Amino acid sequence: MSGRLGGEFCLVCGADPPLFGDRMCESCVRVRTTLATVPENVPWVRCARCGIVELDGKWEATKEADIWDELLHRHLGVHERAEDIQLAMEPVKVSDRHTLLHIQIEGVIDELLYQEEHTMRARMANGVCLTCTRRAGNYFEATVQLRSSGRRLSEEEFTKLRTTLDEVLAKLSDDPMFFITNEGPVTGGYDVVLGSKGLARAWGRHLVDEYGGMTVETNTTVGRKDGVDVTRLTLLYRKPGYEIGDLVHWRHHHWRPSTWTKEGAVLERVDRRERTGATWRDLEQASVVAQRSAMLRVPFINEDASVGEFLDPNTWTMESVRLPFDHTPGRQGLIARVDGEWMALPWMGLDEQEDAA
Ligand SMILES: [Zn+2]
Ligand SMILES: [Zn+2]
Repeated sequence: MSGRLGGEFCLVCGADPPLFGDRMCESCVRVRTTLATVPENVPWVRCARCGIVELDGKWEATKEADIWDELLHRHLGVHERAEDIQLAMEPVKVSDRHTLLHIQIEGVIDELLYQEEHTMRARMANGVCLTCTRRAGNYFEATVQLRSSGRRLSEEEFTKLRTTLDEVLAKLSDDPMFFITNEGPVTGGYDVVLGSKGLARAWGRHLVDEYGGMTVETNTTVGRKDGVDVTRLTLLYRKPGYEIGDLVHWRHHHWRPSTWTKEGAVLERVDRRERTGATWRDLEQASVVAQRSAMLRVPFINEDASVGEFLDPNTWTMESVRLPFDHTPGRQGLIARVDGEWMALPWMGLDEQEDAA
């Protein structure tokens, strides 16, 4: 050693340069350096009821490959001076609960390349997520009542309305409270009990946008928690039972809705030339007398200034109706069955378009 006085040498074994890190030769520095550390076992939790996974305190629907990635990134410790790190991982399932994660890692520390292999055991534990806990407890915050105005809806129509909730759920974020607690038909409608007021309102807005009508909200206080009132929301949605062109009875006269507006509809009166706007609230009183889909077009066989005769397509007998105020000689009759009698209706823009097509 005396011959190297003043020169550089390994502090551990006295070897000649090159030296690395804290002035050690390559073999001494390699013995004392670890590129990566991983714990032997890492736990993760899956909801035993619905299968979603808890990662970082958040419950989410997660693919298995993403679980392993997440566990690796959370538990892998890497040397603080490591650079150019390359990682590879191969998961090997040992049992339902146990998966071995084989990890290959390489990286450069102080200009030396390190390559290591590690194994980490991912252990699954069963848990119950927040959503399932609340569901199991029949938790709910809101009831949406689907009803109709103007006409009783068929079961299929209610089913169709109900499916829009699935569309809304698909578009919204994965809020754990966005679940259905209970649902089913009730007299005159369909009720859906939900875990979240926000979901109830989002659905209500969707229904109004899609089908018109309006929602009415009622809040009920059911108790107090942490000094705050706990309330439940009842959201009543009435789908207008009438479509554009239907014949409705409203305020002692017959009308046909011709256009929806933001607040309601524009109605055209049947017995004279008159149109008016009405709000949804006004229209709560409207009742459907004949749906447009059930109206018929018939040629008049005889007509004078006020009455037309036509062949009733159901009975093949001659019937007569008062001609509508807008009738022009030779035009077909648009007829609807009202209280056991035929009624001829004035044409709306909609009827003319259909005639032209
Ligand atoms: Zn050495
Ligand atoms: Zn769950």
